[in-house]
Amino acid sequence: MITILYLDNSATTSILPEVREKMLTFLTEEFGNPSGKFYDLAIHAKEAVEAARDHVGNLLGAKSLEIIFTSGATESNNTVLKGVAEHYSNKGKHIITSKAEHPSIMDVCEYLEDKGYEITYLDVDQFGRVNPEDVKQAFNDNTILVSIFWGNNELGSLNDIKKISQFCKDRNVFFHTDATQVTGKVDIDLEEYQGISFLSCSAHKMHGPKGVGALFVRSDEYGKLIEFTPLLHGGGQERELRSGTYSVHNIVGFGEAARIAKEQLSSNREQLKELEEKAKELLIEKFNDHIIFNSDDNNKIPGILNIRFKGINNQILLKKLAPVIAASSGSACSSTKPSHVLQAIGLSLQEVRESVRFSFSPYIEIDELDVFKLL
Ligand code: PMP
Repeated sequence: MITILYLDNSATTSILPEVREKMLTFLTEEFGNPSGKFYDLAIHAKEAVEAARDHVGNLLGAKSLEIIFTSGATESNNTVLKGVAEHYSNKGKHIITSKAEHPSIMDVCEYLEDKGYEITYLDVDQFGRVNPEDVKQAFNDNTILVSIFWGNNELGSLNDIKKISQFCKDRNVFFHTDATQVTGKVDIDLEEYQGISFLSCSAHKMHGPKGVGALFVRSDEYGKLIEFTPLLHGGGQERELRSGTYSVHNIVGFGEAARIAKEQLSSNREQLKELEEKAKELLIEKFNDHIIFNSDDNNKIPGILNIRFKGINNQILLKKLAPVIAASSGSACSSTKPSHVLQAIGLSLQEVRESVRFSFSPYIEIDELDVFKLL
């Protein structure tokens, strides 16, 4: 029997057994609400949430107090864009982003445009990267925020976040980066990126549960976080920045996934690189010059390959592959529309419709790629 090889890990990942185990405890006996209670059930839940915060902080090189739990990267992105836009509207109404961002940035920017904000959508190069100099050029006196992804979800290309964040710091402009696809795959030490004001990430892209993510918010030397208007008002959880009863089991699962991702960062990276190389080799052997790699060879998230199968419609191909390989044409969040990312790198609509993304997990064995020989 052929088992299906799951190559859609940029869309979501399986939950690791250790993560599931930890979560189960907080779905069963430890069901307490961590907010402001004195009995053991609540205290245990509170301690578990704080331990998870430490693990996520540790993965990012951030202080625990700088981690705000959310329902995922979509919420983190919405929180920053809308929250900064509203809070600093009397300072300026200009935001800079790129043409290759995730829909949870692009659509918020369009929404803000309707509300009277001016948005600059920077062009990207053939691999989806922003030229840092373009960010510098785009600043004006009204610029309040720059939001540029760290690594692209469709192509895996990494941006020069060091340079871009430094330019923002020099200009005294907040900088947000969507790091959803890079956390757990790229070494992130936010101590070394003082220009990053905000960062979004999500548990389900690193073998944790769906429905939980984090927003990193930079603190000053006194532990005071950058101010913004919260998206959710209510019970005042997360230092009044994100109200709502804690999803303790999800947060605990996120913490465990982050702990493991940190511990295995370098071995996971190596495995992903090996898988990518081997898959490339097998694909070239099989398809020769009938395929073109849309993703770059270097300076990318290991384990994301975007490939154009010349003359073959991606939906037909993906359907045909489905009994042996589970993959997608790109972002799960916009699967009905042709990818705006691939259009932004200059591909024609026809070329976009011939492109497929294979995204790997470090828990795949090299031998499992033999399935490519069956294509
Ligand atoms: N940003 C990027 C780059 C993503 O890949 C995704 C998930 N596709 C998101 C944001 C949204 O994350 P979530 O599913 O946690 O809302």
